[in-house]
Amino acid sequence: MKGILVQKFGGTSLATAENRKAVIDKIINSINRGYKVVVVVSAMGREGAPYATDTLINLAQNSYEYINPRAKDLLMSCGEIIASVVVGQGLKERGHNYEALTGAQAGIITDDNYGNTRILEVNPQRILETLEANKVPVVTGFQGVSQEGEITTLGRGGSDTTATALGAALHAEMVEIYTDVEGVMTADPNLVPQARVLKHITYEEACELAYQGAKVIHPRAVEIARRERVPIMIRSTFTESPGTVIADTFSQEKQIDIKGDQAVTGVTSRSNVSLVEVKPRQPQKYATALGCFEVLAAANISVDFINVRPEMITFIVNRELAARTEELLAKTEYNYTVSNNLIKVSVVGAGMTGLPGVMAKMVKALKGSEVHIYQTTDSHTTISFLVKRDDEQDALQALHSQFNLAQ
Ligand code: ADP
Ligand code: ASP
Ligand code: MG
Repeated sequence: MKGILVQKFGGTSLATAENRKAVIDKIINSINRGYKVVVVVSAMGREGAPYATDTLINLAQNSYEYINPRAKDLLMSCGEIIASVVVGQGLKERGHNYEALTGAQAGIITDDNYGNTRILEVNPQRILETLEANKVPVVTGFQGVSQEGEITTLGRGGSDTTATALGAALHAEMVEIYTDVEGVMTADPNLVPQARVLKHITYEEACELAYQGAKVIHPRAVEIARRERVPIMIRSTFTESPGTVIADTFSQEKQIDIKGDQAVTGVTSRSNVSLVEVKPRQPQKYATALGCFEVLAAANISVDFINVRPEMITFIVNRELAARTEELLAKTEYNYTVSNNLIKVSVVGAGMTGLPGVMAKMVKALKGSEVHIYQTTDSHTTISFLVKRDDEQDALQALHSQFNLAQ
């Protein structure tokens, strides 16, 4: 008897009746192969589609009244609830009983940081009972319930996190993330057409790619899977190709052998960022301007790409938090600017640690494509650059070809 398989389907996979048929086929196929399948669904379609998350947000945000985060989460959670019943009915039409479960009903307990909540614990009892009763649990992705009983959401793209959290709690054999591309690729194929599917990558590489902008998987989803050693597969809903395995460098038990030895695994970018520059009113008092970090931390705004110099402090924030950041800085005594002209491009690879010449190659590639570098930063698996927004695609393509990633 096979074990539990968690299968998550993203927005585009559920957008049309035809797509949903492909989804139902995948689920039934796995049931027929002997798995106990737990299904996780996102809201159906992307912006513009009637029940997509962005469409729901726009329904309320276009009114002039501020929507409070609790109400916004309540609204956003509806998309997945609709999808769970629609997919469930699709299963029923093909002879499989189902139980649609909200995040709360599936036992996903979170903190109360609306809009970007973290999972505190998962109580999968109801899911296990549903499986026991020979029904397919169809769980709404992207949402949970706070300890106070409020509906919360896990951050945009957070259905992936629901899937791996359930996978971990249920000791699933595997979590399959079905989407509209064939796996994790060396770059976003919309920006780099030569991008190639990676057969397998380590949790660390996947996590880093996701944090640096590769939205094919949510970074927290990978973190949870890594902690609990649950393998993830990213695959296309619409083809039979094997996709990408994300797992440990070596797992005898799961018979997976991955070598994180490529110098560079992939390139990615984050364009939804705003650059903040903070200056002290008097240059000799720059230490006081460091207080800006406390102000932002108190408001739960995370900062990235930080550079502290006597004359200026710079960092980036998520673009959707730019207005709030400005509001907070306006109350301080610092001079500041917030702009949207620059974006972050990153090169990720577990094998580049200590390898000489990697940075030189990157700088050469960018220079050759006339991409100006405004700032750089690095960690042991990643080197990132701040470049002009208009240079995003040129930078990605130059770096992709410099490291022969298409081969
Ligand atoms: P879903 O709705 O299925 O969750 P997403 O839109 O969240 O799908 O993620 C899939 C998209 O991620 C792809 O269509 C692709 O454009 C984008 N993407 C960005 N970087 C990568 C990458 N490195 N590999 C694959 N896809 C990527
Ligand atoms: N529907 C949610 C979003 O659009 C969650 C997800 O798709 O993973 O962000
Ligand atoms: Mg997604």
